[in-house]
Amino acid sequence: MIDYRNTDREKIVGTYNRFDRVIARGHGATATDEDGARLIDFTSGIGVNSLGYCDHQWVAAVTDQLSKVQHTSNLYYSKPQIELADMLTTKADMAKVFFANSGAEANECAIKAARKWGNDATEGRKHDIITLTNGFHGRTVATITATGQDHYHEHFAPFLGGFKYCQPGDLSAMKALADDDTCAIMMEMIQGEGGVLDMDQAFVKGCAELCADRDMLFIVDEVQTGIGRTGTFFAYEQYGIEPDMVTFAKGIGAGLPVGGVLFNEKTAGILGPGDHGTTFGGNPVACAGAKVVLARMTPEFLESVSAKGDYIRSRLAAMDGVTDISGRGLMIGFKISGRDSADVVQEALGKGLMMLTAKGRIRLLPPLVITYDEIDAGLKILENCI
Ligand SMILES: *Cc1c(COP(=O)(O)O)cnc(C)c1O
Repeated sequence: MIDYRNTDREKIVGTYNRFDRVIARGHGATATDEDGARLIDFTSGIGVNSLGYCDHQWVAAVTDQLSKVQHTSNLYYSKPQIELADMLTTKADMAKVFFANSGAEANECAIKAARKWGNDATEGRKHDIITLTNGFHGRTVATITATGQDHYHEHFAPFLGGFKYCQPGDLSAMKALADDDTCAIMMEMIQGEGGVLDMDQAFVKGCAELCADRDMLFIVDEVQTGIGRTGTFFAYEQYGIEPDMVTFAKGIGAGLPVGGVLFNEKTAGILGPGDHGTTFGGNPVACAGAKVVLARMTPEFLESVSAKGDYIRSRLAAMDGVTDISGRGLMIGFKISGRDSADVVQEALGKGLMMLTAKGRIRLLPPLVITYDEIDAGLKILENCI
């Protein structure tokens, strides 16, 4: 029999520090490893399995589509893609959508659209994009440049020009950075990889107003925060702003790769034939699954996400040693005083609980459908570890 761990180390490029488990099956928010050990999943992959493992409706929709058409090129009309676009633009109250496969690709598309818009209006002068330090926008060359963390910038110089970085919360710095050459500001509402850090509401509103005043586009990266994760369909709704472009990915496919950009009336016409494209983007199987996710996002469902998040937060707040609780809905960050977060996550895994870290903090992104029994079982394991 193949030795999975050794073969992985020998044959797969070592870009990941893997946890010492092989996940074999799953149901709801409970995974089972190859040895039959049950693991409560507070991770959803990384915010991807929004309906947990193997949701029946999702599996039925995906397998049904698989047995019809698994792929057509984007040179043909695709029913699942069109139906998903209709649902998504209606739900988000946006004008149009472009479908990609991942968060990085979604942000690449938004960056290209912002530059085309700025360049076309100014004979190529208005092309700078301001992002935030400690943010995260992906791993491609453009999106690591957009990612304002030095750690991601080691080894890969030279970078793309035209990016500037602002400290989160510092509106006067943002005003000073934004000049005639700036076409857009791009940010997360809650910095996910940056440690689950909520943006200050006044700062976000101030940036949105600045964009309106100085004719810049406001791009919100909802790759991690979007599609119900924070208790509203998109997190920006809780900040009282209306972005010009919204990028999404992780949670919408419930496990299959779907991402994209939503455009408002102002930005919907920027990209035309030949400006952008993708072979796999908007795959019919992935879109058929994503339709099930969107159909689930009723007001009651979103309220249940908020309620579960509040419940976990209040339970965490009552635990000795838990500090710095952050996030919204089922996107939760915290620290344990005197303990290294990665050590706690390792220990919890040994006891049957999957968690994530982000920038030295513990990060929870449970499936949105997690039950209170699963939450209690997971929190009990966490309590045992601290
Ligand atoms: C994960 C993430 C990305 C990158 O998404 P990929 O699908 O890994 O390319 C971009 N932005 C944010 C906010 C993310 O959390």
